[in-house]
Amino acid sequence: MKILIVEDEIQLTDALSELLKRNMYSVDTFYNGIDGLDNALTGIYDCIILDIMLPGMNGLDVLNNLRAEKINTPVLLLTARSEIDDKIKGLDCGADDYLTKPFVTGELLARIRALTRRKGEFVDENKFEYNNLVLHKNTCSISCNGNNIKLSLKEYYIMEMLIANHGQILPKERIIEKIWGSENDIEYNNIEVYISFLRKKISSISAPVQIKTARGIGYFLE
Ligand code: CA
Repeated sequence: MKILIVEDEIQLTDALSELLKRNMYSVDTFYNGIDGLDNALTGIYDCIILDIMLPGMNGLDVLNNLRAEKINTPVLLLTARSEIDDKIKGLDCGADDYLTKPFVTGELLARIRALTRRKGEFVDENKFEYNNLVLHKNTCSISCNGNNIKLSLKEYYIMEMLIANHGQILPKERIIEKIWGSENDIEYNNIEVYISFLRKKISSISAPVQIKTARGIGYFLE
């Protein structure tokens, strides 16, 4: 999953980014409201952690703009203890949750999990499952009926997207945008290489799941 952090306290941002990466999230960070909004508008994030007091444009204006553009990415507002009014305004503007600084990192992770949880798909916080194929967050691996194989980080992210989007075609462009970023000019056949690694790994653990190609569009699980 991909998380956007918009927060001007650089040390806090970097610490959060490290923490989230250790927990298998892919993370982009911006230190001001304008760049934050620009990137949030792409709609590629699964969750946005948004500070209220920001240079350029404050978090509430970022949030207002985002919701006005019909971007419904879950937003977790970060507020200082003194900003109770802002908290209320934030929830009124369409924030999904808030956390008062300073906070315990375990609580932040729990709230992100709650905001990004899709119904019925998480077996527990470390496992993501589709048709007996289990994706393990803590070991970066997939397993099926006792067979287990390690994944690279990018393979993990692609597998996670495929499971989250099962039942529909996942366009190649979305995979590129999410995993390599919108400014990256990666070759389309790079993705094919990763998909072919994944197919080999899935078949090596005898999982009853296949990654199918929708010609010219993308991939889907079956
Ligand atoms: Ca701030």
